[in-house]
Amino acid sequence: MGSGISLGRVWNVPIKLHASWFLIVGLITWSLASGYFPAAYPNINPLLYWALGAVTALLFAASVLLHELGHVALALRERIPVRGVTLFIFGGVAQITEEPKSAGAEFRVAIAGPLVSLALAGLFGLLYMLDRAVPFLAAPSEYLMRINFMLAAFNMIPGFPLDGGRVLRAAIWKFTGSLPKATRVASISGQIVAFGFIAFGVLTIMNGNLFNGLWLAFIGWFLQNAAISAYHHSALEHSLAGVTVSQVMKRDFGQVTPLTPLKQIVDEGVLAGGQRSFLVVEDGQPRGLVTLENIASVPQRLWPFTTARQVMTPLERVEGLTPYMELMAALQKLELANQAAMPVLYGSQLVGMLSRDDVLRYLRIRTQLGV
Ligand SMILES: [Zn+2]
Repeated sequence: MGSGISLGRVWNVPIKLHASWFLIVGLITWSLASGYFPAAYPNINPLLYWALGAVTALLFAASVLLHELGHVALALRERIPVRGVTLFIFGGVAQITEEPKSAGAEFRVAIAGPLVSLALAGLFGLLYMLDRAVPFLAAPSEYLMRINFMLAAFNMIPGFPLDGGRVLRAAIWKFTGSLPKATRVASISGQIVAFGFIAFGVLTIMNGNLFNGLWLAFIGWFLQNAAISAYHHSALEHSLAGVTVSQVMKRDFGQVTPLTPLKQIVDEGVLAGGQRSFLVVEDGQPRGLVTLENIASVPQRLWPFTTARQVMTPLERVEGLTPYMELMAALQKLELANQAAMPVLYGSQLVGMLSRDDVLRYLRIRTQLGV
């Protein structure tokens, strides 16, 4: 969900639209304009059906966004970093990269979204009750009341990583004191829910309703994937607990001078030396960092004529890690900065480099040794 159209930031958290979002807003507009509004308001200008449909679909999208911002607000209050919010075909995801510190924090972050949806359902319900007589307000309000209520109900299904699954995980965590155990149970319940959706979808297709059936099966398939990947993420976090950057970082990173041509770095350092990031050193002082991304940003035919200085990221702008930082936190920092590697600084002294590959290699070795 990394790609998408940027909508700006809320509380400094980037908000994005995934391309599939247009499909769902289009589908909702179409279904409202062709079925719901003609039934609610017979015999009016058909253009009005489309206008009402589009406005209602956008308000639905805004409701989904507010649901996600509910999670974001509580996550930020618990000091859990949020990478961004993306709206896509099944609604929204708030990318909360770190596990909450406690069962209570997990519960509060998880319940915030459905509570926002319930509040919105109440608000639109109130609007509907107050203005049942006002033309063109009652039917959209009623629709938005129902759909926000459904959003709260759907998300409270107790399958991880749905909100309900997170609430379940928080409860098991609180009860057993073990986050890995809680994650395992919540993830299994997530997979059961996902298979339920798929089975129900297949039954619906066999009953002749192809579109609804495919849709249900599609949601199930998505939930299945999400349950498994959320479980892996959580397991990773558990297995890296207590490991620090200094245990995994590379101490022998490549060094180049500011005037070394990229061609030479690639030939000698990358291809022959197997290194992926290079420290640019001038008069014994580190000046910057050259990574494969920096090199790849220059067309290959210019490599002989481009120097390390021209493509390096100056050290002041390079975010660094510290040797005693937890490896999982370092990995998240790499992910957040979208960088393959980061220098490890002890005070102002460079003591090593940590790349995502180093972490993967470390995990592979541990898996092979079974430790
Ligand atoms: Zn939610």
